[in-house]
Amino acid sequence: MTEKILLHINGQDVPSSDGAVFSVKNPATGEEPYAVSHATPDDVDAAIQSGQRAFEDGRWRDVPARERARVLNRAAALLTERIDELARLETVQIGRTLREMRAQLRRLPEWLEYFGAVAQTAEDTGPNFGAEHLNVVRRVPIGVIGLITPWNHPLLITMKKLSAALAAGNSVVIKPSELGPVVPVLLAKLLEEAGVPAGVVNVIPGLGRTTGKALSEHPGLAKLDFTGGTETGRVIAANAGHSLIPVTAELGGKAPVLVFEDVDINRAAAGALFAAFIATGQTCVQGARILVDRRIYGDFVEALTKRVSALRLGDPLDLQTQMGPMVSEAQREKTADAVNRARAQGATVLSGGRAPEGQQYERGWFYEPTLVADVGPLQDLWYEEVFGPVTLVVPFDNEADAIQQANDSPFGLAASVWTQEIGRAIRVSKALQCGIVWINDHHRIDPASPWGGFKDSGLGSENGLDAYNACTKKQSLIINTSDSHFDWFASVEDLRYS
Ligand code: NAP
Repeated sequence: MTEKILLHINGQDVPSSDGAVFSVKNPATGEEPYAVSHATPDDVDAAIQSGQRAFEDGRWRDVPARERARVLNRAAALLTERIDELARLETVQIGRTLREMRAQLRRLPEWLEYFGAVAQTAEDTGPNFGAEHLNVVRRVPIGVIGLITPWNHPLLITMKKLSAALAAGNSVVIKPSELGPVVPVLLAKLLEEAGVPAGVVNVIPGLGRTTGKALSEHPGLAKLDFTGGTETGRVIAANAGHSLIPVTAELGGKAPVLVFEDVDINRAAAGALFAAFIATGQTCVQGARILVDRRIYGDFVEALTKRVSALRLGDPLDLQTQMGPMVSEAQREKTADAVNRARAQGATVLSGGRAPEGQQYERGWFYEPTLVADVGPLQDLWYEEVFGPVTLVVPFDNEADAIQQANDSPFGLAASVWTQEIGRAIRVSKALQCGIVWINDHHRIDPASPWGGFKDSGLGSENGLDAYNACTKKQSLIINTSDSHFDWFASVEDLRYS
């Protein structure tokens, strides 16, 4: 049976103004469990106006930070109760394994709790303005923040952006990906149940080229917070730039995993596997280039190939499954095309490199976990973000060569360094041109820790104090404390100020 998902504007579930809908497919079965209203530009405008009214009448902005934090904590508690239900919905709409979705969603209440605490502890500052004035710099909320989010972590990415925006007292309009719109709509209702006033959180599902475009071009936004591909980021930032709307952008990546010769090979292979194939490889920080010291290259590749070919592909709702399908047919075709081009350009496929065969895979968009060798800067796969279960493995000669290869990318989002030698771990990390570096780990995230990319991987960051501050602007109050009378034009003979 197909369930209807409506827009959520001003606390109401409403159909789109022209009645249009689009369907969300289950990537594992091809079924169409949801018919989702497709927001028109008029609906986008209505959502922004709803957010503006809520902002201007102060129904959330003027609630004391301590009370806003209480509401966010109540939302965190409600979310905790509903994690299993929401994780299942995420799996049905994007195909990621239920095991992964549960693990990810269990962390999400932390974002609401963290940013609630930040709002309560945020302090105004008082720069030194001289003897006769007191200067108080206040941080004030900015208005309606547009959130445009991708499909690969529908709730996590929405939650990162939304927690900071709401804690600071803003309204939001969320345009989720057309492939993952269901859970963000439910989240808006959960927040209202916890006490966020109607109109503060508005959700307008729709396609990027229509709904997303209209949102990014709307002059009523105070800020646009985007996560998605680098090329979409350029388009969105240019649209917002016309109205001088600031943009935070979390964009693409091609993360290197640097494996030095002193590692325990089996542990490092397990780490590389985790880096490359979580979420069927569809993460921005996917370990997509595994660089290995030549002295252990053969043994490492043997251990990793064995682990890759043993991954259990299948029904993502089955807790025994280790890798689900890809999110869409288009994404699988893009992946297959990248692997086929790599083959044609001389790469060697060590494992995978095709859609699996068998009845259980017939209706879904499955692709085998794929490990590719003999790839270098002359092949497309070296630079291109595939965003699928494909990673490449190459040797390096020494530390300098490892750093040079790792930095040879237009992206600069994340990297991981695997070694037991502390000096080398720090030295190499400092030389890497990327915003996040894990040492002997990968994928770890915390609401307090900045998440953002260098180079073509983004602008600004999520998480931490900077993300909260980016949802505020500074107002400088300058107060005259002197008891002397000042009258600039009273007499030209008073030359004190000349
Ligand atoms: P995408 O195609 O760029 O889409 C991202 C969002 O933008 C979606 O909501 C999309 O809507 C919308 N959109 C597309 N074209 C638009 C336009 N012209 N104007 C306004 N909005 C538009 O990216 P994706 O395929 O969903 O996600 C994969 C990408 O996200 C990868 O490159 C990945 O690295 C990146 N990512 C980055 C991070 C990070 O933290 N840096 C995290 C996750 C993902 P539709 O879905 O309807 O097209």
